[in-house]
Amino acid sequence: MLVFKFGGASVKDAEGIINLGNIVKQYREQQLLIVVSAMGKTTNALENLTRAYVEQRSDMHDIYEDIKSYHFNIMESLFEHGHPVFDDIQNTFVEIDWMIEDEPHDDFDFIYDQIVSIGELVSTRIVNAYLNTAGLASKWLDVRSYIHTDNTYREGVVDWPKTCEAIEQGLPQLLQNSIVVTQGFLGGTSENFTTTLGREGSDYTASIFASCLKAESVTTWKDVPGILNADPKLFADTVKFDELSYNEAIEMTYYGASVIHPKTIKPLQNADIPLLVKSFNQPDAPGTVIKEGVVPVFTKPVIIVKQNQVLISISATDYSFITEDHLSSIFAIFARHHVKANVLQTSALSFSVCIDLKPERFEDLLNSLKQAFKVKYNDGLSLITLRHYKPHAINNYIEGKEVLLEQQSRNTAQFVLR
Ligand code: ASP
Ligand code: MG
Repeated sequence: MLVFKFGGASVKDAEGIINLGNIVKQYREQQLLIVVSAMGKTTNALENLTRAYVEQRSDMHDIYEDIKSYHFNIMESLFEHGHPVFDDIQNTFVEIDWMIEDEPHDDFDFIYDQIVSIGELVSTRIVNAYLNTAGLASKWLDVRSYIHTDNTYREGVVDWPKTCEAIEQGLPQLLQNSIVVTQGFLGGTSENFTTTLGREGSDYTASIFASCLKAESVTTWKDVPGILNADPKLFADTVKFDELSYNEAIEMTYYGASVIHPKTIKPLQNADIPLLVKSFNQPDAPGTVIKEGVVPVFTKPVIIVKQNQVLISISATDYSFITEDHLSSIFAIFARHHVKANVLQTSALSFSVCIDLKPERFEDLLNSLKQAFKVKYNDGLSLITLRHYKPHAINNYIEGKEVLLEQQSRNTAQFVLR
């Protein structure tokens, strides 16, 4: 059986959903599980709605109405008047109506997951209804009964044994008779609350199902022809990789390449399931295959740019050396705040670390650090990572920029730039 994942860009409008149907038609002989993200930029819009609600802002209702009308407009181009999907979607949105009627009392991350998850719940209902009207027998599956997580809201930790057991028991039979459409990015707790798996987590969902079901392959359908050496929006003359090893793909996502969610590859590597990255605009083109035993040739470096970085410099309050004890308490603080270090460097007197700026977490992190250390920081920075680089070409990437921190190993060079 095959697992397909369609991201937000592939289902951002009615044409996208029709195109999805055409792609799926070509695979109608196969057993097929389809994992779908929220449509277009819906997750961002729902995040925005969550903040407006928690802050009780006056634009809350406008944001919400925009989200609803975006979906209903698409449905009007796909379905005849009176199709049951209209009621179905209306009822799904009612969850949000109920939620935002009352003032917020719960924890932000909990509220976030209950609201933001509606994006995938509606997109999958629309896609499923469309496939059925297009003559492709399909069933809608509530992923929250299959992907079991703990209650770390916004970053649900998957209970693998429980999840695989549910998937192995429920899916094979469903897949025999029809296509199955389910939500990316979501999970459920043992108390039946909804969790999310971290932004862009739908790839990970596809990889969980594939690994539990020992799928033949996972295909993620994207708006790029495959995995490129750099973001084509930032660099001219990008090249596509025909093949990559799992390890190279893991390294790329670790440094911030956003084509695949970082947690996606490991389960596939363990189960030896290839991951195909293909273009939904050119479905017959080969794309990129990530699998075992590939030795890629890098004619150009892999370039990964992360914006919105903060460089924090931490030193002891009494100007003493940074010791192992200091480092261990610094790392404990980072772990407690769920902050990932993108680059680290220690000198005698200070410890520097570059992180993504997440406004809702940053203040708390700073306050915790300041209880035991002297802290300075610079924000508005970017981090560029070059893999398989040629030393003489580094200047092309950093010219005209101020380098605040740099690190080079044989394979990888990183620069924090202003
Ligand atoms: N819709 C979610 C997001 O935008 C999950 C995903 O797209 O993978 O983060
Ligand atoms: Mg998305």
